[in-house]
Amino acid sequence: MANGIFINNNWEQPHAGGVLDVVAPSDGSSFGTIAAGDAIDVDKAVRAARAAYETGSWGRMPAYERGRLLLRLSQSILDNLEDLTALEARDTGKPLRQARADIEVCARYFEFYGGAADKFNGDTIPFLKGFFAATERGPHGVTGHIIPWNYPAQMFARTMAPSLAMGNATVIKPAEDACQTPLALVELAAAAGFPAGAVNLVSGLGTTAGAALVSHPGIDFLSFTGSPQVGQLVQIEAAKNHITCTLELGGKSPQIVFADVDLDAALPTLVAAIVQNAGQTCSAGSRLLVQRAAYDKIVCAVADRFSALRAGTPEMNLDLGPLISAKQLARVRDFCDAAAAQSVPLIASGEIAEGVPADGFFFTPKLYGPVPHANRLAQDEIFGPVLSVLPFEDEAEALALANGTDFGLVAGVWTSDAKRSMRVARAVRAGQVFVNAYGAGGGVELPFGGRRKSGHGREKGFAALYDFSVEKTIVVKHD
Ligand code: NAD
Repeated sequence: MANGIFINNNWEQPHAGGVLDVVAPSDGSSFGTIAAGDAIDVDKAVRAARAAYETGSWGRMPAYERGRLLLRLSQSILDNLEDLTALEARDTGKPLRQARADIEVCARYFEFYGGAADKFNGDTIPFLKGFFAATERGPHGVTGHIIPWNYPAQMFARTMAPSLAMGNATVIKPAEDACQTPLALVELAAAAGFPAGAVNLVSGLGTTAGAALVSHPGIDFLSFTGSPQVGQLVQIEAAKNHITCTLELGGKSPQIVFADVDLDAALPTLVAAIVQNAGQTCSAGSRLLVQRAAYDKIVCAVADRFSALRAGTPEMNLDLGPLISAKQLARVRDFCDAAAAQSVPLIASGEIAEGVPADGFFFTPKLYGPVPHANRLAQDEIFGPVLSVLPFEDEAEALALANGTDFGLVAGVWTSDAKRSMRVARAVRAGQVFVNAYGAGGGVELPFGGRRKSGHGREKGFAALYDFSVEKTIVVKHD
């Protein structure tokens, strides 16, 4: 197992020598350690990145060569698909099927941005007579990346691939609760030919390694994915250093289901949108808004599916795995205990499969409804397999509910009325809206990001290349 902190393409021991346990969520056992990096390790990594960018071969490499490196890494990820899948599944507890899909998407990010690296043009601008004016987009310099534990491989690729494509040198701090695949991926990057200092990694706690990275004066741009609370701290630290950041902070995304929905087509997606990754997905469709005219029919059909859901180990390959940690399990339970105390009706509940280890962090999927709009179940990001149903009368009420939280990440609109789907899609406050679909196919190509408490900036698609670069205007007087 790769271990240590990764600087200049080498594993080093963290200067203070500390380690953190690696825990398998499906049985609670420890299966190794990761380095507990701190501010001194982070400083070393940032200096390595700075040198790679300013004086190393990385900073001088033409875009097409950077693109080739990304493509080589993409292929190497696919060549190691089985090993990476097993590692991701063990580290996060997710079903092997989901882990494999995640690794494939991880490879796809490097493929997409490898292809884009030399195709991101600036503009020429009609200007005064006798002048030539143009813009070019270049790297920020050194970018800092903080990622969460829910999709370690995908998150690594989502933030690192566009940054590297633009020519930034990078330092990443993966999540202490799951970072085995990021550790493996930096090694694959070195083997693919990324020069020393282009890709650096410091594992460790958020409050030490993470805090040191986001406040380091040598960082030119920050990319953070995680909780709104820490996102706010990141933005404050970015402001102190007068740099910008991308924040991807989760959501309370609505699935708006009108009475004329094609229910058979919608059902699997409505349920998968909250159950995928045990609900630990920033874009989880965690609120089901259902039109009263067909409320009973729709909710009964969803309830039937919920009752049949089963949680199990990665090898069981069931509907969902365990939650990531004892802490996350306690957090999700706390929401449900509060709901019970407030007599919010529990409509249906899934099951934990027989034979799962007793010390795993399993939680049965739960369907609640009708949930009052102001209740925590309908307002807060739970990050577990808990779906809240809210009835609505008409389009206006659907939109008021959909837009009635502090978040604004993704929304789903389910209707057979094409005009209505367009009206609602345009009026809902979200960074992405799906009509008669939700979160389709990895979405590497689709710009993604939030509003308000869901964060700001865009990742995925070509949009990420704008955030990971800065524009310069060059004006030449030639007459
Ligand atoms: P978190 O925000 O604490 O952790 C996310 C990342 O930030 C980790 O790498 C962590 O080490 C790092 N971090 C923590 N404190 C930091 C600090 N002071 N400075 C810099 N980096 C720091 O999230 P969590 O505690 O793991 O999860 C709590 C809740 O956050 C979840 O229940 C969920 O609601 C939300 N969450 C959202 C996402 C998402 O994808 N949007 C991901 C993870 C968690």
